[in-house]
Amino acid sequence: MDDGAVVHFEGYRVHHNTSRGPAKGGVRFQRDATLAEVMALSAWMTIKTALVNVPFGGGKGAVRVDPSLLSPGELERLTRRYTSEIASFIGPLKDIPAPDVNTNPQIMAWMMDTYASREGALRTNVVTGKPLSLGGSPARADATGRGVFICARQMAERAKLDLKGARVAVQGFGNVGAGAARFLHESGARIVAIQDISGAVFNEDGLNPAEVLDHLRRGGSLRDYRPAEKLAKDAFWDVETDILIPAALEGQIDADVAKRVRTRFVVEGANGPTTPAGDDVFRARNIPVVPDVLANAGGVIVSYFEWATDSGSLLWDEEEIVMRLRRVLEDAFAAVWTLHERDRMDLRTAAYVLACQRILEARRLRGLFP
Ligand code: NAD
Repeated sequence: MDDGAVVHFEGYRVHHNTSRGPAKGGVRFQRDATLAEVMALSAWMTIKTALVNVPFGGGKGAVRVDPSLLSPGELERLTRRYTSEIASFIGPLKDIPAPDVNTNPQIMAWMMDTYASREGALRTNVVTGKPLSLGGSPARADATGRGVFICARQMAERAKLDLKGARVAVQGFGNVGAGAARFLHESGARIVAIQDISGAVFNEDGLNPAEVLDHLRRGGSLRDYRPAEKLAKDAFWDVETDILIPAALEGQIDADVAKRVRTRFVVEGANGPTTPAGDDVFRARNIPVVPDVLANAGGVIVSYFEWATDSGSLLWDEEEIVMRLRRVLEDAFAAVWTLHERDRMDLRTAAYVLACQRILEARRLRGLFP
């Protein structure tokens, strides 16, 4: 620490499955992170990468620390120490970390640099989510929100819903929620309600996400945003919509909330926003749910592009990346939809079946050795 003290922080890096390629997944700095949670998150990554068919497995990492209590120097030394502890099992062909909760491009730059000094060679493809000047991708920042939007558009087509004028409610107005809202707004949808940690707002004519973001960046809180009606935080779930996007936290839609919701379909921006009991209610009510492993995969897809362009020393501009992101996600959506229609299974089950088939096939073809 800056005062010369030596402090012990516990950290983890988990490889869940590497049958289809190197482990891939973020690193979070979170005081209450647990090994069990990191293991679960790494399994989710295995499913996600297989579902969108990028050549990666699943991994995840965490350090039990509240980074807001560290000075910049302490944060850098913590990051470098963690990286050197896990250096023997990360690498461009082994395991490629990325940012997650409370980690960012600067932290990825330190991880890359620590790895380079150990290897005696700079490998920019050892992490993704790097700063642009170090091989980061120009489309990474809003990739997840864009992916949520692409999935919402695919689902709208199949539900014969015109996005123009469609009523949308978004829970969580951070990277994912605000991004998805912006793309939907640009397509003519009406963002009628937004909820974040501070409260909720409503506007029948639709809110402008860019203006809401401006208000937040100026230090305002969402519930005080005008022109919008203040809405009791919990009343957010009663707003009638065509598309509901939970993009805040896990476990937000339990059975009780799922019974109240009035929407044509749900697109999961967050990881695990619907509880299993909530899922059962949606299934019984015939409300389709585009599952998280598909809807929020835009980030890992663009991470794959970052790794691929770094590995091949290629220069792709934003237009190229967005075009490829769209293609990969639309293909994955179509494959899930085909299975859903053919075998009459809900979209989440179809997504898991498809992903597990790919993982098991890779394992069978590779065989067991030694
Ligand atoms: P973020 O920190 O940028 O934003 C989180 C938002 O949720 C904020 O608006 C916050 O006010 C709101 N929120 C927090 N607690 C809340 C509560 N109790 N009630 C209502 N709103 C609440 O986070 P993010 O990066 O947008 O991530 C959101 C979710 O998406 C998480 O589940 C994350 O794991 C998942 N996800 C993110 C990415 C990514 O690339 N950022 C990729 C895949 C999945």
